[in-house]
Amino acid sequence: MADQAIRKIVIVGGGTAGWMSAAPLALKLGHTCEIAVVESPEIGTVGVGEATLPTIRYFNQALGLDPVEFVARTKATFKLGIEFRDWGRLGNRFFHGFGDFGPDIEYRSSYLYWQRLERNIKDMPSYEDWSVAAVMARKHRFAPPTGGQPSAGNAYSFAYHFDAGLYAAHLRDYAMARGVARIEGYITGVEQHPQSGNIVAVKLRDGRRVEGELFIDCSGFRGLLIEGVYQAGYDDWSAMLPCNCAQAVPCESAGRLTPYTVSAAKGAGWTWRIPLQHRTGNGHVYCDGFSTDAEASRVLLEGLDGRALDDPRQLRFTTGRRRKSWIKNCVAIGLSSGFLEPLESTSINIIENAIGWLLQYFPGRDFRPELADQFNRLVAYRYESVRDFIVLHYKLTGRTDSEFWRYCADMPIPDTLRHQIELFRETGRVAIIDRDGFSVSSHISILAGLGVVPKVDDPLINFMDLHKLHAHYHQLRKVIAQTVDAMPDHTQYVRQLVG
Ligand SMILES: Cc1cc2nc3c(=O)[nH]c(=O)nc-3n(C[C@H](O)[C@H](O)[C@H](O)COP(=O)(O)OP(=O)(O)OC[C@H]3O[C@@H](n4cnc5c(N)ncnc54)[C@H](O)[C@@H]3O)c2cc1C
Repeated sequence: MADQAIRKIVIVGGGTAGWMSAAPLALKLGHTCEIAVVESPEIGTVGVGEATLPTIRYFNQALGLDPVEFVARTKATFKLGIEFRDWGRLGNRFFHGFGDFGPDIEYRSSYLYWQRLERNIKDMPSYEDWSVAAVMARKHRFAPPTGGQPSAGNAYSFAYHFDAGLYAAHLRDYAMARGVARIEGYITGVEQHPQSGNIVAVKLRDGRRVEGELFIDCSGFRGLLIEGVYQAGYDDWSAMLPCNCAQAVPCESAGRLTPYTVSAAKGAGWTWRIPLQHRTGNGHVYCDGFSTDAEASRVLLEGLDGRALDDPRQLRFTTGRRRKSWIKNCVAIGLSSGFLEPLESTSINIIENAIGWLLQYFPGRDFRPELADQFNRLVAYRYESVRDFIVLHYKLTGRTDSEFWRYCADMPIPDTLRHQIELFRETGRVAIIDRDGFSVSSHISILAGLGVVPKVDDPLINFMDLHKLHAHYHQLRKVIAQTVDAMPDHTQYVRQLVG
C-alpha cells in the first residue's frame, strides 16, 4: 500500500486556537511532518479568552508544560468556579464550582438529601457548604487538591484565569522549539486541486505560496478556508442565545485576587470579572437589540473595581456553529468552527477537544471521509451540549425588569434542554448525555441556583433516617470547613508560587 502519511501541515492563524493546535501537533508529529503557522499581525487575534475549565490542566500536562512556569508566564490565577450574581432574580447569588456537593448516596445527588433536610430542619445551612470549591471561593483560599483517598482535600478541581495572548506566546515558543515554522503574511488566495478540490496552497499578498497537505483553519470568526473556500454553512443560534456583542476592558487589579470568575447579570446581558496577577479582565456581553453600544460601555465601566487601563474594545459575533468543521483536507478549530458566548468559559475547552479528536482520527493523504464524518459528529455534539447548558442560564430567569430578560423567559429552546429542565423540576434527576460535558453537579448548581425546586418524592431518599442524615452532612460540612481553613490565602499562594 502506498505511503499515505501526511508530511506537511499548514495552520492558518496564530491566535489561541492556532498555537494550541501547533503545540500538540509538533509534539506528536514534529519528527515526521513539516508544520507551519501563518499569521498576520495586521489582522490580529481575538485573544479575550481568559477563563478556562479544569481540562486545560490535562492539555498542558500532555504537552509537559511546567505548571509553575505556565502560571508565571501567563500571569495566571486559579479558578474554582463562577459566582453568579443577579441571575434568575435581582439580588440572587450562587456558585458554580468545580466538584460536587459531597458524594452521592444510592445514586442520588446529595442535593436531593439536602432538600429533604432543608424542608425538615430549621436553619439548615446552604448546600454550597458541601461543595469544597464553593467554600474555598467564599474564603478566598487555594491549594491544589491532594492525592490519595477521596477526602475534602481533593473533592474539587480547578482551572485558570490567564492572559490568552501570553498563553498563545508560550505555546508559540514551545511549538517553534519543536520545529514549527512561523510565517508572517496576509493570505489573499487559496489554490485547490482541480480534481479533488483539496486545498494545495495558500497564497500570500507578497506573492509567496505556502503549500500543504492538511490545512487547519484557525483564522477566527471569518473561517477563511472552511467558509471562504468550502462554504460549510453556519447554524445560527441567536434566537436562543441573543447576545451578539461584547466589550472588553482591563482595569487595575483590586489587590486581592479572587479564585473565581464573577458573572453579573445586567439589563441586556451580563458582565465578567476575571482577576489576573497584573490586572483584572472585564467584559460586558450583551444584545444590541436591547442596548446601545454606548449604554453597554457605561454599564461596563461603572462596574469596574479599579482604574480602566484602556478604552473598551468592541467585538461582534453570531452565536452558532459551522455545519461542518472538517471538509476534505481542511479542519476548522477555534472561532472558525463556531462560537458560544463565554458565560461558562467553554471555547478554549472546545479547542482542546477538537485537537484531541483530530489526533484521534488523524487522516492519511487519502482523507477518508469517514474520519471527517466522525470528527464532525463529535464537534456538533459538543457544541450542542454546551449550547443547551448556556441557554439554561437565560431561559430559567425570573427577571421581568427588562425587555431582554422577558424575551429570554419566552424564547423557544431545544427539546433536549426542555427535557433536562422538566426532568429536574419533576423528579430532581439530571440527564447526562454528553459524558465529557458538564456534570450532574454543574447542572444542579445552575438549576437550583436559578430557583428550580424539584418535586421529589423518592422512597430511597425518604427512607433514610433524618437524624442520621443530618449528622452525616453536619460532619461533612465541618470537615470541609476545617480543611479549607487550613489552606493558604489564594493571593498569597499565587504570589509565593511565582516569586
Ligand atoms: C468576548 C469574548 C470573550 C471570550 N472569553 C473566553 C473565555 O473566557 N474563555 C474561553 O475559553 N474562550 C473565550 N473566548 C473565545 C476565545 O477568545 C477564542 O476561542 C480563542 O481566542 C480562539 O480564537 P481563534 O484563535 O480561533 O481566533 P483569533 O484569535 O481571531 O485568531 C485568528 C488568527 O487568524 C489569522 N488570520 C485571519 N485571517 C488571516 C489572513 N487572511 N491571513 C493571515 N492570517 C489570518 C489572524 O492573524 C489571527 O492570528 C471569548 C471570545 C470572545 C469574543
